[in-house]
Amino acid sequence: MSAKKVDVLVIGGGIIGTCVAHELRASGREVLMIDRGEPGLGCSYGNAGWITPCFAMPLPQPGMFFKSIGWLLDPASPLYIKPSADPMLARWLWHFTMAMNRKQFLNSIRVLTDLSKYSLDFYQSAASRLKDLGFEKKGLLLVSSTKDGIKYAQTEMNVMAAQGIAGRFMEKDELLAFEPALKPLVRGGVYFPQEAHAEPYRMVLGLAEEFVRSGGTLLSKAEVFDFETSKGEITEVVTTQGRFKPDLVVMATGSWSPEIGRRLGLNLPVLGGKGYSMNVLADEKKPQRPIMIVERKIAVTPRAGSVRIAGTLELVNQDFSITPRRVRAIQDGAREFLHLERTNDATDLWRGLRPCTPDGVPLIGFSGHLKNLFLCTGHQMLGLQSAPGSARLAADLILKRAPLTDPRPFRVSRF
Ligand SMILES: Cc1cc2nc3c(=O)[nH]c(=O)nc-3n(C[C@H](O)[C@H](O)[C@H](O)COP(=O)(O)OP(=O)(O)OC[C@H]3O[C@@H](n4cnc5c(N)ncnc54)[C@H](O)[C@@H]3O)c2cc1C
Repeated sequence: MSAKKVDVLVIGGGIIGTCVAHELRASGREVLMIDRGEPGLGCSYGNAGWITPCFAMPLPQPGMFFKSIGWLLDPASPLYIKPSADPMLARWLWHFTMAMNRKQFLNSIRVLTDLSKYSLDFYQSAASRLKDLGFEKKGLLLVSSTKDGIKYAQTEMNVMAAQGIAGRFMEKDELLAFEPALKPLVRGGVYFPQEAHAEPYRMVLGLAEEFVRSGGTLLSKAEVFDFETSKGEITEVVTTQGRFKPDLVVMATGSWSPEIGRRLGLNLPVLGGKGYSMNVLADEKKPQRPIMIVERKIAVTPRAGSVRIAGTLELVNQDFSITPRRVRAIQDGAREFLHLERTNDATDLWRGLRPCTPDGVPLIGFSGHLKNLFLCTGHQMLGLQSAPGSARLAADLILKRAPLTDPRPFRVSRF
């Protein structure tokens, strides 16, 4: 059977691929989006649902070097790097360490904030057209019980103020009155009022359906397992549902990107950063708004009828196993800080692999060595909150429009 001709083929139906397909279709391209499973069942499924430009920060931060050595040795820390002899890990760690400088940190925040602000507006507008996205704009609260944690929250407030994102410091008494779900061990916190949250899986489905309604094509259960290339371009994409002949291929395959990239001769430094989430039944002391417990790095998100608690970042690559002590650390940490007494009865335990680049900035750009291959991957902890902005930047570069933000920090050739 001959290969089917397509204009744009987007590989991957997570929030990133879906937003890219949606944006390119809205810009008039004929788009086929394919996924090895169903859209939204990868890392985009059970995340904390935060759309919080105040968190537009890369993973590597100045002064993190000695902390990261500690994490390497402490399997109970909220950020764990699993030791491995894989040369890809050594290369990743080298770039990670090199990115821990203030200049690069601030430069990354600037462009990540641009993507996140655009995304927040996009989702707000999507919520006015699409049903049941769970979109709410109730702000985000960072809370801590330690001096160091409060200092961290205040530093974040100051850094983000320079990006036009206002936060407000609250002392203990004000904080407890503002959010009665908190227990008295909190000593202070910072409230960012403009932030939002949503149901991440429903967001993918809602946008994927809108993409199809606008004339886009979605093909599920189509796994890409090979490519044909000739004269510096991809001529055919080979999937479990047949072969395609695209003019342009967009790779939005999240933590699977290194695996699929290898088939095209790419050595992509994207590591899987495993995190967990679970849902807890909540009574009248349910939190009113998303909360970050700073020293435990636990994200708490109110939902209809339950509360989602999420956390940990284990750099483990394609390892989907469940580590019980990390699940317990999230349950214990949430119970310690909040009137959520039934965290041990949590349901819907889920784990996902965040696609992490070493400098914490996604790869958005043409691959360089294959002229019709465009990458949009590596969105670490910020995939939901930066997907529409990333898709807009991707479309700007593909369609040669003025870019939403400076595209240089995203270029694929930097590693
Ligand atoms: C615990 C946790 C909490 C988080 N909380 C937040 C949050 O509050 N806010 C936020 O912004 N981000 C959050 N994140 C991060 C966010 O979930 C990710 O950044 C985002 O989901 C990445 O999206 P993606 O589309 O790149 O990847 P994915 O959603 O994983 O999508 C990739 C898709 O590619 C498909 N695919 C892979 N290989 C192939 C192939 N060969 N052929 C066809 N299809 C293929 C997969 O099936 C998958 O559907 C969190 C992550 C975790 C783990």
